[in-house]
Amino acid sequence: VNLYGLWRVDKKVIDRLVELIHRVAPIAIRRVGGTIKIMDFCGTHEHSIVWNGIRSLMPEGVELVAGPGCPVCITPAYYVDIAIKFALEGIRVYTYGDAYRLPGSGRPFGDKGRPRSLEEARALGGDVVVVYSFMDAVKHAKRDGKESVFLAVGFETTAPAVAAPLVNGVVPENLTIINVHRLTPPILRYTFERHRNAPIRGVIAPGHVSAVIGAKAWEFVPREYGVPTVVAGFEAHDILLAIFHILAMLAEGRPRLINEYKRVVRWEGNTVAQRYINECCEVTDAAWRGLGFVPQSGLAFRDKYRRYDAMYQYGIKELTPEEWSYDLPPGCRCAEVTLGLAKPTDCPLFMKVCTPGTPYGPCMVSIEGTCSVWARFGGGG
Ligand code: SF4
Repeated sequence: VNLYGLWRVDKKVIDRLVELIHRVAPIAIRRVGGTIKIMDFCGTHEHSIVWNGIRSLMPEGVELVAGPGCPVCITPAYYVDIAIKFALEGIRVYTYGDAYRLPGSGRPFGDKGRPRSLEEARALGGDVVVVYSFMDAVKHAKRDGKESVFLAVGFETTAPAVAAPLVNGVVPENLTIINVHRLTPPILRYTFERHRNAPIRGVIAPGHVSAVIGAKAWEFVPREYGVPTVVAGFEAHDILLAIFHILAMLAEGRPRLINEYKRVVRWEGNTVAQRYINECCEVTDAAWRGLGFVPQSGLAFRDKYRRYDAMYQYGIKELTPEEWSYDLPPGCRCAEVTLGLAKPTDCPLFMKVCTPGTPYGPCMVSIEGTCSVWARFGGGG
């Protein structure tokens, strides 16, 4: 099957892929000795799987589980609280639209009440501006000259958009950054550990992230864990082809890394973007919401760029493993949903207390959050 260069294909190809999956699955299941759990890492993959009804096309014994690929879902409440505090103290906070409604811990802020999100802080008079990109915040902050911070959440995909203006010296002195960027390969290692009792047998690696870090970043998965991995695009045929490749590799007993998304992802990735990130940031242990600290999974500003670090500038302590405490609201099962250990429908609050209109937990906020995807498009069946 050679569909690597295609953006869209017709129904006949989809039917053929589904037929191939059904043909190879029993051989793979026999070889593995039980159900085959395939993790789709990325929130956009989960969106496409649900939107296209791909789970309903899977043969018995092949299970697709969503992974930790939603950056808003895993942003620790600590940093949301800090952004809320800034906004209420008159420092302007710029943020992306999906982080605007992200709940923090809901702790009280003086006489300003208990805003749970930047949206609520703004309703209480806080200074919050939603921007489409970091460069929009740069332009806005330059024009207004107001003391401002940018809440920078995201994975390797959004980190270069912050790093490049910093390295190129176009960020004004009145704008600092709460740097909550996180790295994806380390969280996949962590996820494997948490699935030790019922192992993940295949990984659909994230297409957007891989465009930056390169397909090579996932080489460790088949090498160290013996798990077939396919870097995939986001159309239905991309995902079906990735599933077919994973099952075929399992049937053969030869786990490898395949780049199905060659029309976008190169082996080396975007080396210019990587250089920008490396120039201004170093890799550090970092907290993930509901999970705690994951080794070498975050980015911290290097000394040269410290003056743009909002935490440093305002004398706010960085979160440490000793100080981190469980930061999901009571009853929310986002930590398990994020790791693919529970489905959104396993959460008793799903579509009762917690809906896309009134998100209670972080996985219901962003369009990439698994709970939000399942809520909006009718579950994963
Ligand atoms: Fe958390 Fe809401 Fe998802 Fe439950 S449905 S896990 S409360 S985000």
